[in-house]
This record gives sequence, C-alpha cells and structure tokens, in this order.
Amino acid sequence: MRLTCPLCGDRDRREFHYYGSDAYLDRPAEGAAPAAWDDYLHNRDNPAGLTKDLWYHEQGCAQWLVVTRNTVTHEVSAVELVAGRAGA
Ligand SMILES: [Zn+2]
Repeated sequence: MRLTCPLCGDRDRREFHYYGSDAYLDRPAEGAAPAAWDDYLHNRDNPAGLTKDLWYHEQGCAQWLVVTRNTVTHEVSAVELVAGRAGA
C-alpha cells in the first residue's frame, strides 16, 4: 500500500504509523460524562466502505494525516493534513 502525503508525495505505507479512526480527533469536552469517555476510549466503528483514518508520517514530514479509504476495495481517495482541517 502506498500513501500520497500532501507534503512528501507518494510513499510506502511503512513510513507511516496508523492510529485508527479520525474520531480520535473528536475528544469529549472537559467534564464530559464518564460514558462519553468510555465510548471515546473503547468503542470503535468497523465500517464496510468509506472510512477516515488518522495516520502519522513518522519517517517523513512528521505530520498528522487523515486518510480517506474504502475498507472493501482498499482504494485511498484522499490524504489531508490534520492541520488544514476545520477546527484543527
Ligand atoms: Zn509527509
């Protein structure tokens, strides 16, 4: 698998570290109910189809990336910098 980093270009997947769903970026508010933190820390979706995942370009530019890919076809349709997203 190859990922096209917006800063570094086309790179082998082994240069990146996978961190899971981009829902990781949406932390519960300070003082949120324990159930909200439990859901955030322990429950994950496992979609068949499009998903957005959080990756770190560990052996490249050291940027956090959101990779949009299809879990059925393995097609990568977008790679975006987390820093460029709204609210980041
Ligand atoms: Zn990079």
